[in-house]
Formats: sequence, C-alpha cells, structure tokens
Amino acid sequence: MKDIQLYINGEFVNATSGKTFENINPFTNEIINHVAEGDVADVEKAVAAANRAFHGEWGQLKVSERLKYIHKIADLIDQHIEEIAPLESLDTGLPISQTKNMVARAAQNFRFYAEMVSNRLVGEAYQVDGEFINYTIHKPVGVAGLITPWNAPFMLETWKIAPALATGNTVVLKPGEWSPITANRLAEIIDKAELPKGVFNVVHGFGETAGAGLVAHPDVKLISFTGETTTGSEIIKNGADTLKRVSAELGGKSPIIVFDDADFERALDAATWGIFSFNGERCTANSRLFIQESIYEKFVDALKERITNIVVGDPLDPQTEVGPLIHVEHFNNVKKYIQIAKEEGAELYSGEVPSEFEKGNFVPPTLLLNVKNQMKVAQEEIFGPVMAVMKFKDEEEVIKLANDTKYGLAGYVWTNDLKRGHRVAQAVDAGMLWINSQNVRDLRIPFGGSKYSGMGREGGHYAFDFYTETQVIHVALSDHHIPQFGKKKS
Ligand code: NAD
Repeated sequence: MKDIQLYINGEFVNATSGKTFENINPFTNEIINHVAEGDVADVEKAVAAANRAFHGEWGQLKVSERLKYIHKIADLIDQHIEEIAPLESLDTGLPISQTKNMVARAAQNFRFYAEMVSNRLVGEAYQVDGEFINYTIHKPVGVAGLITPWNAPFMLETWKIAPALATGNTVVLKPGEWSPITANRLAEIIDKAELPKGVFNVVHGFGETAGAGLVAHPDVKLISFTGETTTGSEIIKNGADTLKRVSAELGGKSPIIVFDDADFERALDAATWGIFSFNGERCTANSRLFIQESIYEKFVDALKERITNIVVGDPLDPQTEVGPLIHVEHFNNVKKYIQIAKEEGAELYSGEVPSEFEKGNFVPPTLLLNVKNQMKVAQEEIFGPVMAVMKFKDEEEVIKLANDTKYGLAGYVWTNDLKRGHRVAQAVDAGMLWINSQNVRDLRIPFGGSKYSGMGREGGHYAFDFYTETQVIHVALSDHHIPQFGKKKS
C-alpha cells in the first residue's frame, strides 16, 4: 500500500523533517506502509494555511455555498463505504461487520450538521420597549485543532470535522498515530470535493510533537480532543496559556447493571456485545458487569457459553466478531491487566484464539470473575475484550458500586421495572445511560461524560455551540436617552 503523506494547503506533502514512521497491520504485525511524521514545523504550515483560508475564500463563502461542500463530502463518503470500511479494518483490527456501519454513520453526520447550520445560524432576538432590538448570531471560531484516537478513527474524526467545517471553521486534524489510513483516505475525499485550499489539513505524527504543537499554537482557537484521560488533562493545561476552548472526550469504566427481572436473553446480548464489539476498544464499553445475586450463576454460565462461541479471527472476514488489538504495545498492556487480575485473585474465563492467528495481537474474550470493585482491574480502563463481573444484592448497593469509580462516561440498566430503571439510571453518575438498550444514539442527542470521562459534549447542538462564537448585536430603534457626560448645559 502507498505511503501516507501529510495533507497541507490542498497538497499531499512529506514531513518537513523528511521523517516517517511505520504503520503496522495488527493482524500480522507486518508493515503496511510508512507515514510522514509531522511535527511542530508542519503544524506551523498547516495552521498558517488554515488561517489564510479562514480569513480568505472559505470565510467569504455564502453559507449555502459552504454547505454544498459539506453535502459533497457526505456523498463521496457514501460512494466509498465499501472501500473505506476494509481499510479501517486492515489498519485497526476492527471487524469489517462493525466498521461498515461506522463509515455510513460518518456520512450521515456531515448531512446532519449541514442541515443544523442552515436552521440555526440566527439565534435569539428580543425587542425591548420598542426602543432596542438585541439579537445573537453564531460565527465560526477560526482554526479548529482536532486531535483524535486510534479506536473507531474514521467515525470519531468525522464527528469533529463535520460540525467544525459546517459551522465555517477551518481544520487541522492530528489523527491517532496507530490508525492513519482512513484519515488519509478522508483527505483524498475532501481533496476530491475541491474545498478551497487550506480549509482541511491533516498532520500525521506523534502526540508529544504534532499534537502538542497544535495545542500550543496561538492561531488555533479551539481544540476538540478524544483520547485518554491523562492526555486530556495535559491538553487542558497546555491549552490554558493561549486560552483555548477545549472539549475533551475521555476514558471510561462503564457499568452494566442486570436486575433479576430483566429480559435475560436481551440483557445477555447487550452485556456480551457491549464489551466484545469493537474488540473492547470502545470508550463506552460495559467493562464492569453487575448481576443481581439471584440470577448470578445462571447469567455467568450463559456468558461463558457465549464467550466460547464468539468468532475470533481475521478482521476482514465478515464472520469475525472479535479481531486483533490495534498495536502490540496496547496488546501487552491488556495482557498486563490480565496478569494483574490473576494477582488480585480474580478467576479468569477466556475464549479461544485459533492457532493460525498467532501473529496477530489477539486477546481472547475474557471474563474476570470473583472480582471486587476496588481491584485495579475494576477501576482502571483496560480497553480490550475483558469484562469484570460482580454480583449485587439490591438497588442501593449497586448504585454505590456503579458510582465507585473515577470515570463517568456511560452506564446501562437492565430491568423490567420501569420506575426502577429510571431511578437507577438517574442515580448513576455518568453522562449517558441506556435503559434496556445498548449504545443507540440519535444524532441530535449529546455524547460525552462526567467526572474523569470528559469535559463538554459532542453531538447535536452541543457541537454546534462549541464550534461557534456567539455574538450579540444591540440596535437602537429610537433616539433614546443617553447620559450626556461633559456636555455644557445651555
Ligand atoms: P491517547 O490519549 O493516547 O491519544 C489520543 C490522541 O492524542 C492521539 O492522536 C495522540 O497522538 C494525541 N496526543 C497524545 N499526547 C498528546 C499531547 N501531549 N498533546 C496533544 N496530543 C497528544 O488515546 P488513545 O490511546 O489513542 O485512545 C484511547 C483512549 O481514548 C481511551 O482512553 C478511550 O476511552 C478514549 N476514547 C474516548 C472516547 C469518548 O468519546 N469519551 C471515544 C473514543 C476513545
């Protein structure tokens, strides 16, 4: 596969330093291609191009003209789903059956924000005593720095790019270094959509250089970040010097709570899918399972059976349910947690990885039984196909356990008692709760977490507000009285 370059000012270019880094296939651990390693010098060029475009052609376009470009990007993504999804699977190890949906969702997101912008650009207006009108308008902020992780890269990148561009900003994207392929494909698509030069730029590279350069740059007006909690905290600190507007979508350790009156099979589907889909490399993964004690044994037995049958394998095979983890470094980290679980006294139950796949970064679907919520493996984000399983007595106890974590991204409640469902969901301290459902979200609804899981929200009008500056205009309708300081009395 062709090597990957940076995309700056409408051109595919090498890094200023000439350096590259290897992009590795997680299924074989062979090199797929080399990627230009951008650093501060390239960030400088990309931000300059984005700034010129913002104050130039892009900034001067009529909104309706701008939105034509957004629709064009959506159409081009749709036309390439069949090609983008396998690239995503090749690069990340995510099973192809799951990446296809994510790519389709990315196109919908561009259309969604094109529509929202055409409906929301004029804000509020008030007439005061017939003497004034006060009204608000929403203006783009400027150059948006978007820093994204390697999990679900195409979808997470476009979650940010779509509202940023639709609201009139220009963009410099710094994608996750372990997943550069679809970010590059997106640059090719946006290039084909013929946006004015400099509106969209991609600087591949590492966090400490390219990412940090973007955060520190005075001409970058906002940073939208998705990634680990520790990185988020560093970005917030580093952005303070230039008063950056920062949104941070961070890690999670989300609980799924199964009461004994729940629909057993559906709760089982949800608990299994919620941790093992996307190879467990999902911020909203239900990595802590709490089962009410009267159904504990039965539920665990059923889970074990599911685990034994999960299809682990080639991410490009449509039958595969769990693929290899993104990178050998992350793979070792997940294996380290499995070792810690043993040392902490957990009992392990794992599925099988077929022996022909030994070259890949495979961790079999794993249950950690006999876990206490204060154990490291129940508190820290493992970000792999590993679920800590615990039992609880009643509602009061499970709410305490669910909230006994520094994270607050998501949560899931399974019960057929409607009142209890709402009560427990509202008592769980997290940004997003699902009752008897799993991870479905209308694009109008916000996405994000509380506590150490984030700051701000993406999606819906929350992203619109983040990517726009609200300006207030006060207009006089009459020659109302203004105190006449310093005027001589006649
Ligand atoms: P990461 O924090 O290591 O990296 C994310 C991005 O930040 C990468 O592009 C990286 O190069 C960059 N970066 C690293 N250090 C930086 C610095 N000092 N300054 C600027 N940029 C820097 O995260 P990851 O390992 O790529 O992703 C996995 C994490 O993302 C998990 O914790 C997961 O929960 C989280 N995540 C959260 C959400 C959400 O919406 N809440 C969604 C997906 C993933």
